Formats: sequence, C-alpha cells, structure tokens
Amino acid sequence: MPVLRNIGALARCLSSGAPGDAGVVSAAALVWDGATIRWAGPELELPAEFAGWPAEDAAGRLVIPGLVDCHTHLAFAGWRADEFALRLKGATYLDIAAAGGGIASTVAKTRAAGTDELRARCVSHLTEMAGLGVTTVEAKSGYGLTAEQELRLLGIYRSLASGPQRIVATLLAAHVVPAEYRDRRGEYVELIEQELIPRVAREGLARFCDVFVEESAFTVEEARRILLAGKRHGLAPKLHADQLTSCGGAELAAEVGAASADHLEQVSEAGIRAMASAGVVAVSLPFASLYLGVGPLPARRLLSAGVPVAVATDFNPGSAPSYHLPVAMTLACTLQRMTPAEALRGATVVAAQALGLNWEIGSLEPGKSADFAVIDSDSVDQWLYHLRPNACVRTVAKGRDIWRAGQPN
Ligand SMILES: [Zn+2]
Repeated sequence: MPVLRNIGALARCLSSGAPGDAGVVSAAALVWDGATIRWAGPELELPAEFAGWPAEDAAGRLVIPGLVDCHTHLAFAGWRADEFALRLKGATYLDIAAAGGGIASTVAKTRAAGTDELRARCVSHLTEMAGLGVTTVEAKSGYGLTAEQELRLLGIYRSLASGPQRIVATLLAAHVVPAEYRDRRGEYVELIEQELIPRVAREGLARFCDVFVEESAFTVEEARRILLAGKRHGLAPKLHADQLTSCGGAELAAEVGAASADHLEQVSEAGIRAMASAGVVAVSLPFASLYLGVGPLPARRLLSAGVPVAVATDFNPGSAPSYHLPVAMTLACTLQRMTPAEALRGATVVAAQALGLNWEIGSLEPGKSADFAVIDSDSVDQWLYHLRPNACVRTVAKGRDIWRAGQPN
C-alpha cells in the first residue's frame, strides 16, 4: 500500500476526458493498495488517511497509465527480412502475397515450430515490452490456420496469463485463406464458423474474433458470416479493415457492432460516419503505414467525426516488425498529426476501450488496476518528442513492479 510522491507530471488519461486531454496533474501523488489504485491527484491534497503509508519517490518524473498494446500478432516463428528488402526494390505487399510469401511463409514456419519455442519467443517479446511501460497486450492467433494450430497458439496465450502482463487473446483464424483451401475457400470459412469458433468459445480461449478483410484475404460477405458466428458464441468482433484498399471494412465493423476496426488507412467517408454512429474504436497502426508506405490513417478526420482513435504496434514479422509502442505513438504524432496527449490516450484509455476493458485499465483513477509506468521526462510532449531508445524507468502492473531500469529482469 505505497504512496508514490514527488511526481512531476501525472497523466491520468481520465475515462471521462476529452480526446486531447491527458488529465495531467503537476506535483502529484499516486496511492495504490494491492492491485488497485486508491487515489491520484495533487500531492498537497493527499488525504490524511494515506499520509503515513510507505512513501516512494518519483524524482519529479512523468507517470502515465500502463501502456495497452491493443493489436499484436505476438506468437509467430521466424522473421521476413528478405521481404523487407524486396519491398524496397519495388515489390508490393500484394505481389509478395501472390508469390506465396507474406503471411503464408510465416504460417509455414510457425506450424513447424515447437510450442516451447513459440512460447519462449512470446515471453522474450513481452519482457522487452514490459521495459517500455506496456502492461496489457492483445495477442492474435492467425499463423496456424488449422483448427489444431490455431488452438495451440491460443493455448500459448492462455499459459502466458500467469505472467506479469495482462494478455487479451483474439482468434484470427481468418487471417488469410491457407494454401490448402485456395480452391475451396468456402470450406475454410465453414471450418472457422462451425468448428473453431464454438470450440474456442467453449474453452474460453479468446475474447475477440477478428477477420482480415482485404483483396488478399477475406471478402466482406465472408467476414460478416465469421464475425456474426463469433458474436453468437460470445466472441466480440474486431476487423483488419481498409488497409490496402477501401473495401467496406469500416462499414461492416459498424454493422456488426465491432469493438474496433483496425488499420483504416483507406477508410471511406461513409465508413467514418458509420463507425462514429455505432461507437466503433479506430485502431491506428503507424508502423504498418511506415513500413508499407501506405496511409497514414486519417486520424484528424476520424477524431473530428467523433471516432476514438487508439494507437497500437501491430507487431508482426511482415508489415510491422517492432513492439516499441512509444515509437508508434511518436509516429502517430508525426504521420497522423495526432497530438502527444491524443497519442497517449490512444495507447492507454482508448486502447482499453478497444479491448472492452476501460472499466479496469487505461487510466489512473481510484478503483482501476494499479498499472503505471514512470517515464524519465517532465511532460508527455517532451517524452514523445525526444525520441530515445527507452525513457521508461519503472513499470508496475497490478500493483507489482514488473520492470525497473538497471535491474535484471
Ligand atoms: Zn494486424
């Protein structure tokens, strides 16, 4: 039950705050008891009941809510540096996919990898993410693409739930149509709908069902079937939508009441209006825009239409080979013209909303989980402007230290 005192700037990211308001309090204190925040505000107003609690010193630094990476493809084997070089020579994402590269090559490597190896890679990535201030990670399946292999990936995520971070699993069996189903794609959609979704729901292996709606992946009609089947079994819909082509993904997200529509580099005006009226969160993935040269997502148009915009890494071996969420936040500023405060909210309270967890995480308010990071900076603007390898000096999840600068993990 400590009190963190001498916080230079406490960015609370209040649930009720406006999109551009990080809820910053100067000269602040933060009180938590076990896994729960008890109080956050100006240190001078610290209630007497907490005055005698053990004090810790934030040394005048910035304190933010634990970062929420609400879109990753965490479990995969191998990398695709060869395609990075090919793209730089002019090959497009769709060219590479058509030649059997892209997602299909990671599927082959992932299927061949042992479960212990895949799990160890996830733990290694998560440990580094903890060092960057990330306390919650959404993790998608999607490199298995058979019932057994998809269940194996979700099983790995379940086993990671005992680790330091909160893991939110998503079934993404509809990532691409696997090669063996190329000429009978309807059968693959049926497999997801009739076999995989009921089993994943019954075993409680995922919270969300996601579909990649794109020319190289699934049509709007196929996605509708899969997402509605997921919904009938209690898996909330999410979509990879309108990334490379404007194909009605945002409109479908609104129609099925998705928790989020992610990517949206090519979103239409009608799609933006539909998302605003249905309350769908837009998840921006600036690394994918940076690496593919597509986009960026039109954050200003989305925000002015009233659509909340989250920021995530899309960590995957193809289009976004980085889990550095603070860098993605800086890119959200430079590429998408979001303010640092909007980017911070996008990677905390709005990201929590995209995961249906904003009642529990994403802001520093009494009753919420004691998830926060201490940043060696004096303001949100300074932190996201001055790009350093890592400015995070301490990460706390559920009231426990999960990382401290200079200490072994
Ligand atoms: Zn993705």
